[in-house]
Amino acid sequence: MTLVECPRCRIRVLTRPDGTCPNCHKKPEDTAGIDLDKVALTIRPSTRLPAVCFVCGQTADRTRRIRRTREFGHKAEDPTATITLLLFGLLGALVWVFRDRAILRAFVDLPVCSRCKRVKPEVDYIDWDRAEITVVCHRRLRDESMRISDNGRMPAC
Ligand SMILES: [Zn+2]
Ligand SMILES: [Zn+2]
Repeated sequence: MTLVECPRCRIRVLTRPDGTCPNCHKKPEDTAGIDLDKVALTIRPSTRLPAVCFVCGQTADRTRRIRRTREFGHKAEDPTATITLLLFGLLGALVWVFRDRAILRAFVDLPVCSRCKRVKPEVDYIDWDRAEITVVCHRRLRDESMRISDNGRMPAC
């Protein structure tokens, strides 16, 4: 059993005794038909995003905003609004979670180049409690952001 990043599931998994991923049941090294440049990047308030296009990995000259909101079935226990506003990075990665009347909002500005500006970002997962957004991006963007992030603790593959 080894801890590897499954290129299909884009998460780190402990392989089963036969060497397959427990999630998709395929061998991580069997990469036929997979775009290996696409990886998952978890953007935290402390993540600094470099000017690398999230689609193609070339130099980015603008950003594209991802917005997500989440509503709860009931009102939040705390009636006072809590605002977390954090600005980081060369082009300004912004994670904003706004808690008011049981609505959470989060957004992130992803660096993108002029050629890829119409490509829709793919959100994998949002951890609302920790204000973390996991997006699918080009490997270079993740590598570069881990290199410049002060707490880029996600181990390189
Ligand atoms: Zn898998
Ligand atoms: Zn691009």
